[in-house]
Amino acid sequence: MTVDAVIFDWGGTLTPWHTVDLTEQWRAYARAYDPGHGEEVAAALLAAENAAWRLARDEHTSTAFETVVRAAGLDPTGLPHERGLAAFQAFWEPHTYTEPDVIPLLEALRERGVAVGVLSNTVWPRDYHEMVFARDKVLHLIDGAVYTSEIAWTKPHPEAFAAAMTAVRMADPSRCVFVGDRLFDDVYGAKSVGMRAVHIPHSDIPADQIGHTVGEPDAVINRLAELLPLVDQWRSVAS
Ligand SMILES: [Mg+2]
Repeated sequence: MTVDAVIFDWGGTLTPWHTVDLTEQWRAYARAYDPGHGEEVAAALLAAENAAWRLARDEHTSTAFETVVRAAGLDPTGLPHERGLAAFQAFWEPHTYTEPDVIPLLEALRERGVAVGVLSNTVWPRDYHEMVFARDKVLHLIDGAVYTSEIAWTKPHPEAFAAAMTAVRMADPSRCVFVGDRLFDDVYGAKSVGMRAVHIPHSDIPADQIGHTVGEPDAVINRLAELLPLVDQWRSVAS
């Protein structure tokens, strides 16, 4: 089968993997939300987020940022939340930068008529992800993206991959390649729906986020620059 679309995971795939201290991210939010009770608020937010990722791992159901905030007993509609969110995003900012390989890779795929997609397990909203991609001058190179905060499911659920295929106007999974850093969410999930899967094996996935199955990738690459020759090879074999 030829390749008509490449769909990428985000964290650890289009960005370099960083191990982020999830307590510190919530301390940043909590100190801005309620300076008098920063530690308690941060602990409640961390517990709510951990519960959400356990659900994603075990049931593959998704959560949005505001839902985490509400589950921690906070109000995601007022000024304290806006201050907290700004502090949270400032904390994350250094970890959001796109890999330098991405722009030439996406340009080359699009020159070949290969559609470019993104499918990210995330509680963050589309606006934030698009702001990051626009800052790094890659937003216009993405044909379609699915952020699981706006659908019901997370990877590896087949519906998450189906939504990503719809976003890049693809109907045949065997003509899609998925690229990701997680053997469960990304590789097992993509293979389960009939896509090819490429693994980038450099991420230090937290033990409590590892799922029940390890997928078998079609290829392993050490950096994104190695993807284009692989796609070209698959396309030439098929033609
Ligand atoms: Mg990832």
